Amino acid sequence: MTTDKHNPFKIAQQQLDEAAKILDMDPGVHAALREPMRELHVSLPVKMDNGETKVFKGFRVQYNDARGPTKGGLRFHQDETIDTVRALAAWMTWKTAVVDIPLGGGKGGIICNPKEMSEGELERLSRQYVRQVGRMIGLRKDCPAPDVYTTPQIMAWMMDEFYWQKGYNEPGVITGKPLPIGGSKGRNDATARGGVYCVRELAKILDIDAANSTFAVQGFGNAGQYAATLMDEILGAKKLVAVSDSRGGVYNPEGINAQEMVKFKLETGKVEGFPGTKAITNEELLELDVDILFPSALENCITDKNADNIKAKIVAELANGPTTPEADKVLHNKGIYVIPDFLCNAGGVTVSYFEMVQNNMNYYWELPEVHARLDDKMTAAFHAVHEMREKYKVDTRIAAYLVSIQRVAEVMKLRGWV
Ligand code: GLU
Repeated sequence: MTTDKHNPFKIAQQQLDEAAKILDMDPGVHAALREPMRELHVSLPVKMDNGETKVFKGFRVQYNDARGPTKGGLRFHQDETIDTVRALAAWMTWKTAVVDIPLGGGKGGIICNPKEMSEGELERLSRQYVRQVGRMIGLRKDCPAPDVYTTPQIMAWMMDEFYWQKGYNEPGVITGKPLPIGGSKGRNDATARGGVYCVRELAKILDIDAANSTFAVQGFGNAGQYAATLMDEILGAKKLVAVSDSRGGVYNPEGINAQEMVKFKLETGKVEGFPGTKAITNEELLELDVDILFPSALENCITDKNADNIKAKIVAELANGPTTPEADKVLHNKGIYVIPDFLCNAGGVTVSYFEMVQNNMNYYWELPEVHARLDDKMTAAFHAVHEMREKYKVDTRIAAYLVSIQRVAEVMKLRGWV
């Protein structure tokens, strides 16, 4: 059971409350921002390979669409809950606002364990989800994308199912698709790339030599793997000293070759056993004495229990919700600079937005154009948040809230909603 203290939606509301208080926000506007506008709960019967029908539970939350159609990923996870999806949908709202793209925030989830499902079962589940939420999603309504344990292939099935429902192609309704059916170049590594751009900007401010910094990556899925390789590609940083996944971690103070590590993970499905490293736990990895720590897995891994032991100078949150509010205060007081999730990992949705734009004009950009546009968006967002941090003397997460919630509130007022 999730306690209130670790309930992601309660945490999201608590963060919002703190920012709203600083801004002396109109109570009506604040109240409107505290709750999702719409949500759909669905049950999904799926024929399993053994001939039995299994019924899965799924959700789609449209948190706020004042700034444009709601946008956000879909997670396949056995521990998914409606409150997790609500929190993630709220964070998507602040995320699209912080990078200033004309979209709102939403999220979806299905309670399932994709690791135990066959390709055929996953396809049937994905199509069944679109049969159910098809009435709620759409190019001008709500556009799903990949997230934890969902892949470009899953996006392709969903986009195809939507086509059969509607009778016409509308590729922009789902982003993170494979390239041949309307994906964008640069979408794969966009989440990590955006985070590394933030680290680059912060290193200049803190006068840290990024190329010689040591770093550790907790969680080795899409975001974690690309963070490991892009630190070298973008910043020349080769000192990746530790990585972990859900099974455990590995450590080598002399440095781990990021490309080889990714290859090993793709071949073996784990990071444990990588040659020349010693095994460490996820908990130990978080407490390593490194310059930069990338939490890139799930919620609530930095809490009041371990915050005091974190030694990194920069915590770059590629995961959504890895730090609890109590831990935030501890890290801030220790002088650790947290680049908060909905800023640090906003590169993914930014390139998803580019994907929608390209789908709509039916004309596609080359990679350098995607990278340059992403860099502009991330750099502007990072500095807007950093300025707010300086102005209000608050931690960076609250600073990011100050930027985002003002933008959403302004549009809600202009539309006459509040
Ligand atoms: N799931 C990603 C996120 O949390 C991307 C969402 C999207 O591309 O719409 O930001």
